[in-house]
Amino acid sequence: MSKPGAIVRFTGKLPENSDVLAGFVRWMVGTEFSPKITLKARKRFTGHTFKFGHAVKRTRSYAVHFVHGDLSDSLHYLAHEVQHVLQYERGHLANTRTHILWHGEPYITVEAYKALGVAEFATYLALPWEAEAKQAEVTKPHEFVRWVKAGRRSEFGS
Ligand SMILES: [Zn+2]
Repeated sequence: MSKPGAIVRFTGKLPENSDVLAGFVRWMVGTEFSPKITLKARKRFTGHTFKFGHAVKRTRSYAVHFVHGDLSDSLHYLAHEVQHVLQYERGHLANTRTHILWHGEPYITVEAYKALGVAEFATYLALPWEAEAKQAEVTKPHEFVRWVKAGRRSEFGS
């Protein structure tokens, strides 16, 4: 049996600090789920998490695009996007053809969600899965640094 936890790889140019970034993602996912996560470092634009269906052997695949600046910027963006991966893995965030579901309940129609433009950015940020990911941006990098300083990084490696 393979080791539980996220299977992390990079696509495109390997970013600076890639070992730390991969270690952060593995730490955030923990051992409950084993999603396959392909990271793509980008210079600008917002981050994005793409989910690819229900893959074989209960391992789900995700592509995570994150803005790669200095290390703290990268951890900030990755925390946000990996929180979305966890929401999918836990079944908190899901979608049908017509609705986006939050904790199993229809929250917004896909149509209304797609129509949220720049003018409704505040509404977008207030969506519960976005608010939760925003919170992760703030808390997770700090928790990770504390965990590394406690000398437990070797448990995960990268
Ligand atoms: Zn988000």
